[in-house]
Amino acid sequence: MADGTRALFMLFGGTGDLALRKLYPALFNLYKKGSLSKHFALLGLSRKELSDEEFRAKIMTSIADETADQQVATEFVSHFYWKSHDVNNMDHYQDLKKIGNQLDDQYQTGGNRVFYVSMAPRFFGIVAQNLQSQHVLSENGGFNRLVIEKPFGRDYQSAKELNDQLNSGFQENQIFRIDHYLGKETVEAIPVLRFGNPLLEAVWNQNYIKDVQITLAESLGVEDRAGYYDTAGALRDMIQNHTLQIVSYLAMDQPNSFVDTAIRAEKVKALESMEIYTDQGVKDNFVRGQYAGDEDHPDYRHESGVPVDSNNDTFAAGKIVFNNPRWGKTPFYIRSGKKLADKQGRVDIEFKKPLVDIFAKGTGTPGELQKNVLTLEIDPRVGLSLTINTKDSKQGLHTETVPLDYLQSDNRAAQVPLPYERLFHDILNGDGTYFASWPEVAAAWHFVDPVQQVWDTQQPDFPNYQQGSMGPTAADELLARDGNAWFYRGTK
Ligand code: NAD
Repeated sequence: MADGTRALFMLFGGTGDLALRKLYPALFNLYKKGSLSKHFALLGLSRKELSDEEFRAKIMTSIADETADQQVATEFVSHFYWKSHDVNNMDHYQDLKKIGNQLDDQYQTGGNRVFYVSMAPRFFGIVAQNLQSQHVLSENGGFNRLVIEKPFGRDYQSAKELNDQLNSGFQENQIFRIDHYLGKETVEAIPVLRFGNPLLEAVWNQNYIKDVQITLAESLGVEDRAGYYDTAGALRDMIQNHTLQIVSYLAMDQPNSFVDTAIRAEKVKALESMEIYTDQGVKDNFVRGQYAGDEDHPDYRHESGVPVDSNNDTFAAGKIVFNNPRWGKTPFYIRSGKKLADKQGRVDIEFKKPLVDIFAKGTGTPGELQKNVLTLEIDPRVGLSLTINTKDSKQGLHTETVPLDYLQSDNRAAQVPLPYERLFHDILNGDGTYFASWPEVAAAWHFVDPVQQVWDTQQPDFPNYQQGSMGPTAADELLARDGNAWFYRGTK
């Protein structure tokens, strides 16, 4: 086994849903591959009283799907320790400091520390401040990295306050704001597709691209997350973070090199050149929705835990216009929602048709040229497709459209690291490429805040879309006004 990065993890929220379902399996995979050194330890923390053995039993269950070799699993969990910890109790941080130093010595971690806050967002800032004020940070030359889950604020102001709290103990290059979409294969591939293929990058601008469409659709409803979701909505839960992050990779200019600081600088420039809408602009360019019920399923307002008068958006769509030379008036359309036709994360890039279609033979003649569409499939399939015009095989000259397809095989999919595995790997290597920097988060809130503010002051006409559809008809009209249409229409 290669000697991967050494580190002590302090995981706040160590028995939480995210930790058990995603974080431990991801760490185990890194360990099996040698990217995480045997010189690691993990201290799980929450208010629960557990023995190390009880904690290790939970880890065993959590990694069961990833376990082939029982001996390796047993060896892995032997690095796990538990400490009951209340994030507001200063004495408990003194304990952390002592245990941290012991584990550093015992596992020869090189003093490297990863503080992962996998708790409700109201605790993010408190933990960061207390770690600093109580001197829990490593002081013997190792790195100190802080990992923060989502959501990062609920508007610019709250995000700024949170960021100021984090900055009291950590510098920007020590803060890793998780956006798990950035750990997905297709999203990570966007810069390579663009800047590794002159064929694409040469036409990646307003002269050739008619419009860009990003769809992050979920087929599930609010499930058991109403408490959180009803205070967030689709705009905050999916658009401000995941969708705008994908937009930034699609829209940015080429960085000087592929290092996180250079990439982040270009992403910020792209996000800051999005037009911020006036109240009228919001009404013209954004659509919100809430799902209706059907014979077998309640509408959103009758889901468990949702107030019957909730005006929360379970669907959001919008049009982004960039004020920059690359994109000019090429619109980026975005949409995300719950209870849609199917689970589908994708980008459809529609190219312009040729100015002159020399194959067009008049009305009713088959074979008029169609626009090229490049599709990037993010979820659940991983794939690429480009539709191109060619001649069909019949007598005479008629054109037809065929796809050039790449679809990840099941075999290859089985080898692909889990999103959290990639992200942990990057955290251990100090690589912030696939994390959201503060200026990006700020720019995204500056764009989203005016939309939310208009929505907060106006009574919506909810419910306004059927379960199993692709959202309200107003989302179709948004594109139709520009002479466009959603390329992806759902499979139902
Ligand atoms: P959870 O409620 O399951 O776990 C929270 C943990 O915090 C528990 O271990 C709990 O014991 C601990 N805790 C609560 N109050 C405490 C206190 N005062 N002192 C010490 N410990 C305390 O939450 P989760 O679903 O695991 O989510 C964790 C974070 O991850 C949240 O920020 C959430 O938004 C984010 N997230 C979760 C998911 C998911 O699938 N669960 C997905 C994306 C993001």
